[in-house]
Amino acid sequence: MDFGFTKEEESFRQEIRDYLSNELGPEPIGRTPEELFSREFSKKLAAKGWLGIGWPKEYGGLGRSFTEQLICSEEMMRARAPGGAHVLAQNMVGPALIRVGTDEQKREFLPKILSGDLVFCLGYTEPNAGTDLANCQTTALLDGDEYVINGQKMFTSFAEVADYAWMTVRTDPDAPKKHHGISMFIVNMKTPGIRVGSFDTMWGFPVYEVFFDNVRVPKTAVVGELNKGWSYLTVALDHERVFMGGTVAAHSRLYDDIVEYAKKTYRNGKLLSDDPIIRQRLAQLAVDLQIARLFAHRVAWILGQGVVPFAEASMTKIFTSELEQRVANTAMLILGLYGPLDEPQFPFKGYVGWEYKFSLMQAVGGGSNEIERILIAIAGLGLPRP
Ligand SMILES: Cc1cc2nc3c(=O)[nH]c(=O)nc-3n(C[C@H](O)[C@H](O)[C@H](O)COP(=O)(O)OP(=O)(O)OC[C@H]3O[C@@H](n4cnc5c(N)ncnc54)[C@H](O)[C@@H]3O)c2cc1C
Repeated sequence: MDFGFTKEEESFRQEIRDYLSNELGPEPIGRTPEELFSREFSKKLAAKGWLGIGWPKEYGGLGRSFTEQLICSEEMMRARAPGGAHVLAQNMVGPALIRVGTDEQKREFLPKILSGDLVFCLGYTEPNAGTDLANCQTTALLDGDEYVINGQKMFTSFAEVADYAWMTVRTDPDAPKKHHGISMFIVNMKTPGIRVGSFDTMWGFPVYEVFFDNVRVPKTAVVGELNKGWSYLTVALDHERVFMGGTVAAHSRLYDDIVEYAKKTYRNGKLLSDDPIIRQRLAQLAVDLQIARLFAHRVAWILGQGVVPFAEASMTKIFTSELEQRVANTAMLILGLYGPLDEPQFPFKGYVGWEYKFSLMQAVGGGSNEIERILIAIAGLGLPRP
């Protein structure tokens, strides 16, 4: 069995790698909001058609395979390219809209996502609805021809710069089961009554809270059918977890860089790569990275079959996020006290220290890994719900 890429896929990878190296220069750092978010860069990718590589041609995509889309994501990650402006729209909102959006929504939003003109944020988590998303308390109640939204979202990445929120709201407070009364809405973030607050984090990007105070939106804000939001949320979350699994390419890049560093750096007169503990750690990471890559390629293949992977999406998300922590941990071990130094004259220029902190949140964002394990037990193993 050959798990390799075809010649065409390899040449597509090279085309993207060359392009990114030209655009970004040899050594992007990729750890501040400015280095990871650029509408201008997203538009450049859009002009090449690279925001819709795996999207069907009828929706303006290139109609290529999900594997090719994954290749593009891998190269973007590897280059630490500033993909923040399009990442949620391209990988979660767009694919979910293609599956469940109304014709009007597809006409309105898909072309603007493909052209890099729209930044989306995802409004699921609330102060009392994180893991238990079905506990959504933000309401959207019909008043005449409009819905009126009241409530609060929490940890809404990109809320301050987003044009639209793709968000869950409770539209039927009397539904017998709480997940039956939820709808998915698309809300313009400029609508009067929306207020965004921000918090600093230890990895340097702010996270946001969003308040909705009598926010009036048209009926066309309802995605697909009313009160079907729970199933749409599941589709969007699975796409998000598939995407998070694809981040393995970024970890491979850091891994390659620390291997090179260990090969040529002496400490106490000895090469770091001669240290048996370091050799063991690096060898184990090589095994884990290979597994993570195979996971990522498998879920891309499943998507290519027209199926949304469920247990597999959780598996790839768990494995990759925990691997990210192990890579960061080993990088810190190898760099020693140089790791946390955030100064340009030292190796990795503070990137390793940043990644060490950033990797902690990956096990929580997109659904915590404890919950992902519960989902695998139910959907993958068929165990009864607790
Ligand atoms: C950097 C970052 C960005 C984020 N971006 C977004 C975003 O853009 N949009 C958005 O909507 N959300 C976002 N989130 C929120 C994220 O999805 C939630 O933090 C996550 O789903 C967990 O919810 P919570 O924080 O409310 O934790 P809680 O639900 O309060 O859980 C706290 C802890 O208890 C554990 N736990 C809870 N229930 C169980 C159980 N039954 N069994 C075992 N363990 C359990 C959890 O695993 C977790 O470790 C982001 C989070 C982070 C850290």
